[in-house]
Amino acid sequence: MKGRVDRRELLKSAAAGALALWASPRIRGQEAAGGVRRLTDKLAVVDGGGSNVVAFSAGDGLVLVDSGAPKSGDRVTAALQNGAGASNVRTLFNTHYHLDQTGNNELFAAAGAKIIAHQRTLQWMSSDYWVEAEQRYEKARPKAARPAETFATTGSLQAGGEQIDYGYLPLAHTSGDIYVFFKEANVLAVGDAASPVRDPALDYFTGAWIGGRVDAMDIVLHLGNDQTRIVPAYGPVMTRAEFKAERDMMEEVRARLFKQVREGDGPKDMLEEGVLKGLARTWKDPEKFLYDAAKGLWAHHDKLDPNVV
Ligand SMILES: [Zn+2]
Repeated sequence: MKGRVDRRELLKSAAAGALALWASPRIRGQEAAGGVRRLTDKLAVVDGGGSNVVAFSAGDGLVLVDSGAPKSGDRVTAALQNGAGASNVRTLFNTHYHLDQTGNNELFAAAGAKIIAHQRTLQWMSSDYWVEAEQRYEKARPKAARPAETFATTGSLQAGGEQIDYGYLPLAHTSGDIYVFFKEANVLAVGDAASPVRDPALDYFTGAWIGGRVDAMDIVLHLGNDQTRIVPAYGPVMTRAEFKAERDMMEEVRARLFKQVREGDGPKDMLEEGVLKGLARTWKDPEKFLYDAAKGLWAHHDKLDPNVV
């Protein structure tokens, strides 16, 4: 089954004169040449100053998912030119409000791009907010950087022969996370709802929490098929199986945290009792993760399982 699909992809790419790109380990798009990982003849992941920017060539311009980190404009523009043969962006999706995904919004909007995001992303970009971990306010973004079009649940658009479906991933990482699914290319951008490299992060102050994260990952798993490639905000492009493994690990963490918080444990107690031990990954900053996760659990206490221990 898989072999047949790979062969079809190879034939498609050969037709596009891109066989050389596929005849190497780069077939999975893990090797970035000049900040570009090509996934199909029309779609590439480019370096957004450390974060991932998905670029789809629609013929008369690009559709991007996320715009890269602040001050990476020249780098992203060069990578787009290199990877997509163009840098004129028609449509820009923001997977959420964070600066490392929206840093070049002004640049692309000034050049004519329409920014699409979830309503809650617009709200977070429209007002100052307190960053507790750094004891400072983050300023609201200028109007030019904010989404021009927002949605609440799902949407769809056509561009360059591609159907692009997008939808809400409630409370996975912030209050405004979305997926963007390029159906023909079979590539799904999920922003920070997947985190194969960095610690999974929960902006509890927006309402994000671990139960939301697992539910959102289930939404993603219902979209695509076994061949779907999933692009996280940072790190390598994931297979569906890799994404599922991360989802299952997060579900294990969720179940453990529910139990601990019901017993009245705080984040330090959880860490001491080894709540993150024996998992398929380690945390770089387990205390921060557990602090944020515990805050999120308190905010969603009404959704905890009944205590049947
Ligand atoms: Zn983020």
